[in-house]
Parts: sequence; C-alpha cells; structure tokens
Amino acid sequence: MSANALVTNIQGYSIHDGPGIRTVVFLKGCPLRCKWCANPENLEGKLQVGWISKLCTGCGRCAKTCRFNAIIPGDGQRINREACTRCGECVDTCFYKALVRYGEEMTAEEVFAKVRRDKMFYDTSGGGVTVSGGEPLVHPEFVTELFTYCRGEQIHTCIETCGCVPQKAFEIAAPVTDLFYFDLKIADPEIHRQYTGTDNEQILSNARYLAGTGANILFRQPLIPGINDTDANIEGVSAFIRSLGRSDLALQLMPYHRMGLSKYAALDKPYELEEIQIMKPEEIEEIRGRYEALGISCSISK
Ligand code: SF4
Ligand code: SF4
Repeated sequence: MSANALVTNIQGYSIHDGPGIRTVVFLKGCPLRCKWCANPENLEGKLQVGWISKLCTGCGRCAKTCRFNAIIPGDGQRINREACTRCGECVDTCFYKALVRYGEEMTAEEVFAKVRRDKMFYDTSGGGVTVSGGEPLVHPEFVTELFTYCRGEQIHTCIETCGCVPQKAFEIAAPVTDLFYFDLKIADPEIHRQYTGTDNEQILSNARYLAGTGANILFRQPLIPGINDTDANIEGVSAFIRSLGRSDLALQLMPYHRMGLSKYAALDKPYELEEIQIMKPEEIEEIRGRYEALGISCSISK
C-alpha cells in the first residue's frame, strides 16, 4: 500500500528549492515553531481551513453549510476554531475562494503521478523534485516511496529539512535522496529554544550524522535581523560547520521576508515578529562576508 501524507501544495517551476527547474511538494506537520515561519499552514499535522477576508462577500453560504455552527456570519466573519471539526465541507461551498483547505491526504503514488508530468523540464534544466513543509521527514516512508519512484525515472531528489526528527528518518530517506537542504538556524541551544520552541541538540546530532555519511548537503539559514545575525551566532554556526571536517559544506542565507503574513491572518494566528525590519542588500552581503571571513563558503538565496 502506498504511504500517504497531508499535502498543502505541489508547486511547479520553482527555481529556488534545489538545482534547475523543480516541483516542490509541501507536506504538513513540523516539530518546530519558528516565530518567522513563512508557511504557518504547514505546522500542524492536521487539515486546517483558512478564511481570506478580502475575498469574502459575506454571502453566508458557508455558515449555512457548516453542520457544526462553526462559522460566525456577517461582517468580521470568523471561523470558531474551537467548534470547527476541520471537515472542510465549507470550502467547496464558497464561490469566491475565500475559504481555503490547507491539507489534502495524498498517497506517494498520487503525488508522483503529478510531479512526473514535468519530467521534461527537469531533464532539460538539471532539476527535479523537492519535498518541503513543514518538515517532510515527519513522513519518512512517504518521502522515501516518492523518491524511489523518482529515482526509477532518473529524477533528481531533494529534501528541505529543519533537521529536528529522529535520526532514523534520515537513515530511511538518505539512500534515495540526492541533496539535503539542511537548516542551521541558531547555534545557542537556549536561544534556539526561545525562537523555535525546542533546543538544537537533535538537529546538530543529525547534521553530524548526515555529514558523516558523505551525503550531499547545503546548509541553509533563514537570516532574521536581531535574532541570528549576531557575531556570536555567526561564529557558533561557522564553528559547527567547520567541526564537521568537510571542505565541501557551504551555507546559504535566506533573507527574512514577510510573504507568509496573509496566511497567519487566514488562520487567525498572531504573528509575533511584527517589529522586524527587512534587511537591506548591503546588510545581507555584510553578513555573508562575515561567514566567509570565518572560513565558510556562503551564498545568498535569490
Ligand atoms: S461562502 Fe465564501 S464568500 Fe460567502 S460568506 Fe462564506 S467565505 Fe464569505
Ligand atoms: S471545516 Fe467543517 S466544521 Fe469547520 S467551519 Fe468548515 S464546515 Fe464548519
């Protein structure tokens, strides 16, 4: 039987999530709660319904549909999250796409049938398939089955991981994974806990394990002003990468952005980093230079 997972998006023609033109499969569920997360709809491992206020006409069809009286009709309509059973029935009744279903149960076979349609683009660009999230290695069997199908058709495979899963998940998926994009966010365990909800012990342990296997890894860091752009963090992350003893290991900075903000509103979730400012290109370049000065090959994500 094919493994399944909750999929929120299968995004084609991506050029930022691995080499070449790629299809990115976003899976639901993540053990971390990074305060800057740009994909809040992928954190919980259950279906969620989002409400996009600017698209809503207030027609009331959804409220009539909901068998659980979880929709409060009228201006300022909100989903009562306590009463909502996440059945998703209201989504299909909205003519205006103001309700969004975050999460669709799919098998690895079904996902592969979709991603293989773009094989021609992968072949001509050196691209392939990337799984992201959320944390894709919350579903190691699903990822491994999907990537096994990909490998069968010479499609390149990449995992974007926060690293915070049991080592066993890496052991299961690594044999069919061509490239790991592995986040190294914060070196200090307590500061890591403060901003992501957990310390970094498991993450660093998995990075050591994976590096020891000779896997192809690009470390990545969401660069959050005032949180992980400090001298102490730059030195700590650099020292960790150097300690792995592989000269091919590089770091890519992913500058902070606010593109996920509308999804926080759709889910009635607070966004805690309102005060953070977007960095200027010269500030990002300066941080890149500091990593380079500490012996780390460092690039900036486009
Ligand atoms: S059905 Fe759609 S447009 Fe109508 S009230 Fe519900 S969310 Fe708004
Ligand atoms: S997901 Fe189901 S329970 Fe929740 S608001 Fe929609 S119809 Fe009601």
